[in-house]
Amino acid sequence: MSALFDLSGRTALITGSVRGIGYALAEGLAAEGATVIVNSRQQAAVDEAVAKLQAKGYQARGLALDVSDEAAVIAAFEQLDQDGVEVDILINNAGIQFRKPMVELELKDWQRVIDTNLTSAFIVGKEAAKRMIARGRGGKIINIGSLTSEAARPTIAPYTAAKGGIKMLSRAMAAEWAQFNIQANSIGPGYILTDMNEALVNNPEFDAWVKSSNPAKRWGRPEELIGTAVYLASSASNYVNGQIVYVDGGWLSVL
Ligand code: NDP
Repeated sequence: MSALFDLSGRTALITGSVRGIGYALAEGLAAEGATVIVNSRQQAAVDEAVAKLQAKGYQARGLALDVSDEAAVIAAFEQLDQDGVEVDILINNAGIQFRKPMVELELKDWQRVIDTNLTSAFIVGKEAAKRMIARGRGGKIINIGSLTSEAARPTIAPYTAAKGGIKMLSRAMAAEWAQFNIQANSIGPGYILTDMNEALVNNPEFDAWVKSSNPAKRWGRPEELIGTAVYLASSASNYVNGQIVYVDGGWLSVL
């Protein structure tokens, strides 16, 4: 059984992984044997996360860059090539939230959210997949979607459009790259306790809404996404492609 999920000898790049869901996934994949590359825009935060993982005995290295900056991403992959680092698993996790009624939303804010939450997955995914295809060993791409990959909420239009796009980008990746033994799937987390949701958690009305609407009657925790990520990163999912797995306590299944 364990060989199915073993990630020893694989290298995983997890974008946006110095805290929250990304950090939990980096630690979860490292615990299954993967060497992990952690990323954020802040060098100091990357160094800290790498040190934390290494202190636990895991193989980790850092990559500080903005995932929506194509030139920076290309340069980073060229550096990884020079260093002999081969990314077998990519988790496109970096993301931001921005709340504003759509009629007041400025184009620059729409663009920033789309660039960070959707275009980055194309930019990083393309660089990773080019190399996976050239090496001929296949690979795994996991794009982090959301409940908003399926259903909308007011005041988060660019986030919702980006996360809907993430679901279909994964399918576009599967359509083109399945023939190269690359599996590209999405995970759609429910409401998870991270910094991104701090304002919502601290809003008693919203907190009560989450706890009453979700059939699990609670928020999710970042580490509850690890099992699905390990499955989609491992050979256990070698014939699973273009899917989105919601890890939401059952929320999207009920009225
Ligand atoms: P956090 O805000 O806790 O963490 C976001 C991470 O992304 C940080 O490490 C941040 O680092 C990094 N990041 C943001 N922008 C960039 C960028 N341009 N380039 C590189 N790194 C970046 O968020 P969560 O852990 O909550 O969310 C992670 C993912 O999960 C996101 O895609 C989010 O949309 C998704 N998600 C979250 C849910 C939740 O309830 N929390 C629910 C559904 C989906 P830094 O700021 O240092 O760059």
